[in-house]
Amino acid sequence: ILRVENIRKTFGDQLVLDDVSLTVNRGEVKILIGPSGSGKSTLLQCLNFLNTPDQGRIWLEGREFKAAGRHDLCAFRQQVGMIFQDFNLFDHLNARENVRIALIKVKGLTKAQANHRAMEELARVGLADKADLYPAQLSGGQKQRVSMARALAMDPKVLLLDEPTSALDPELIGEVLAVIRFLASAGMTMIMATHQIAFSATMAHEFLFMEKGRIVERGSPKHLLAADATSRTKDFCAKIN
Ligand code: ATP
Ligand code: MG
Repeated sequence: ILRVENIRKTFGDQLVLDDVSLTVNRGEVKILIGPSGSGKSTLLQCLNFLNTPDQGRIWLEGREFKAAGRHDLCAFRQQVGMIFQDFNLFDHLNARENVRIALIKVKGLTKAQANHRAMEELARVGLADKADLYPAQLSGGQKQRVSMARALAMDPKVLLLDEPTSALDPELIGEVLAVIRFLASAGMTMIMATHQIAFSATMAHEFLFMEKGRIVERGSPKHLLAADATSRTKDFCAKIN
């Protein structure tokens, strides 16, 4: 469903993504792991053009996307949703308004339609009773679930998640992982950067281990983390856990 080939990105004279290629098929979950600074966030940002790659090609459902006009970009981003580590909610809008704003401004729904859909999405992440609260009144886990409801309201074909639980206190991580697990079981196509190795191993089709801007190892978690495996991924996971 999403295919990228030979993505390259430099910041100044630093090569941050060096010839990265990957394909994610419908319903697959791919997990990006690797040390800090290896390029995971930059890669995810390139996949929805928050960052423009210097080189490389991106296809969504077989159609090549070239960052051209604003209109194309907007259409592309509706289909490739993004969840950030720090939630990126609008602080002056309550939960329902955060979810509905793009439904009105981007999808062109009426306020009533958008409200209805926003409530459905908030219910899906277990927050129907928090719709009137502002971000400052929500816990980190609740804020992240609002941001997931907002992304899901756009009916994305692919969801990109950049360390969605790393800004959360340990006791709040579980509620966000539960939503992610539910999405995976519902067949959502996802690419997620995370340090939640044990959790990811239970649902990932593939682990992609990044180092210095390259994917240096890839394979099923079962294979890479097997008791008798010798893999970079396994060494790395042993260090961070
Ligand atoms: P972490 O696990 O800490 O989130 P990461 O794998 O997500 O790390 P990136 O955030 O993609 O790593 O960063 C990769 C490299 O690119 C780093 O060396 C970083 O300093 C550099 N970098 C990222 N964004 C920019 C930017 N906007 N301008 C300059 N350099 C950047
Ligand atoms: Mg990062």
